[in-house]
Amino acid sequence: MKKHNFSAGPCILPQEVFNEASQAILNFNNSGLSIIEISHRSKDFVNVMEEASSLALELLGLEGKGYKALFLQGGASTQFLMAAYNLLQSKAGYINTGSWSSKAIKEAKLFGEVIEIASSKDANFNYIPKGINVPSDLDYIHCTSNNTIFGTQIKDFSFADSAPLVCDMSSDIFSRQLDFSKFSLIYAGAQKNMGPAGTTLVVIKEDILGKVNRQIPSMLDYSIHASKDSMFNTPPVFAVYTSMLTLRWLKKNGGIETIEELNEKKAKLIYSEIDVNPLFKGFAVEEDRSNMNATFTLVNEDLKETFDSMCKEAGMNGVNGHRSVGGYRASMYNAMTIDSVAALVEVMDELERKA
Ligand SMILES: *Cc1c(COP(=O)(O)O)cnc(C)c1O
Repeated sequence: MKKHNFSAGPCILPQEVFNEASQAILNFNNSGLSIIEISHRSKDFVNVMEEASSLALELLGLEGKGYKALFLQGGASTQFLMAAYNLLQSKAGYINTGSWSSKAIKEAKLFGEVIEIASSKDANFNYIPKGINVPSDLDYIHCTSNNTIFGTQIKDFSFADSAPLVCDMSSDIFSRQLDFSKFSLIYAGAQKNMGPAGTTLVVIKEDILGKVNRQIPSMLDYSIHASKDSMFNTPPVFAVYTSMLTLRWLKKNGGIETIEELNEKKAKLIYSEIDVNPLFKGFAVEEDRSNMNATFTLVNEDLKETFDSMCKEAGMNGVNGHRSVGGYRASMYNAMTIDSVAALVEVMDELERKA
């Protein structure tokens, strides 16, 4: 039986995407060939890449606005260094809201001066810093829109009016409406809301490129990937194809506007249970709670074994928290149904009745 998959990443994708993707492994477009054995230069695959890129821009409302969508490799972790390599000339400002932000900061320091313009490290990253003072001489500002591990999410990006904004959106891309044209560079590892691991979506405003005067190795140069339409080298064909299927699914189901409503309902459902059920307490401060990753702990750790086995019994997968927070984390990406969230809430209720 299919499980309720709350895994933080790799994670749930729409069932119809799994079905179509597995079909394409056997026989892609009735070609008598598998998607993973055809040339990436074949017309069939070039069409896939084009559709994936244009769907990404369309869904984000960035078509015709000077942006390019690329499907690269090396995960979001490679973007930590690639962003700085391509954009950091003298000084960049980073907002440190968790482990991923900290890793991005570490990499960027190899390329220039990096200042932390705000941090929530003082409270183990359970909140998003507010009232951020941004110096006027930054090449760019970097932030992490959703902190997958700690379960916080930036709701207000108004700090970023004075410098180009670079954002790691790995775990909430395509989940909510934002004015995406405020961002000069968005990157996201596919495996949280878009596809299998193996490709990273990079959406870049082309006019921010070409401003640093260092040599950039070809594989790390956004301009080269942009000029070759993500085909500078062999792209991860299956990951791109499956991402395209997910983007098609999203568009067919009403796009970001519709999925955002569902994501809000799912988040309300779990957070109200966390708040009402005396056995649990939320980790993130209320106003900064993520709609994608809900983090919570048991008030009484002695109930852990019971709760864990009840979760297992009910077909839950991946509700265990990250080691740096402990407790539990329910990741509710776009493809998660409200029924799965309701099923988890039911287990939490049942624990309360039992305890
Ligand atoms: C998972 C994640 C990453 C790391 O992605 P990789 O593709 O494994 O490099 C980076 N940032 C955020 C916000 C993430 O959730």
